[in-house]
Amino acid sequence: MKRRRRPTPSTKPIGRVASHFTREGTPKSPYRTESEAKSAAQLAWTLNGVDLNAYRCDYCFQWHIGKRFRDD
Ligand SMILES: [Zn+2]
Repeated sequence: MKRRRRPTPSTKPIGRVASHFTREGTPKSPYRTESEAKSAAQLAWTLNGVDLNAYRCDYCFQWHIGKRFRDD
């Protein structure tokens, strides 16, 4: 099974795995399934009122929650 990768600039290696780390550089909590991640996102919304996405991580292939990276 082939996965097509788009070439990424190598100047910022963190960019490739940014979804795996917080802005502080610490790894995010991994969730094994999408539903676990979504439950956690729901909880964060309930407790803190923060709107988070659940997404599959390209780095560890598990799920994380967080805001989408749109810049940097
Ligand atoms: Zn990850």
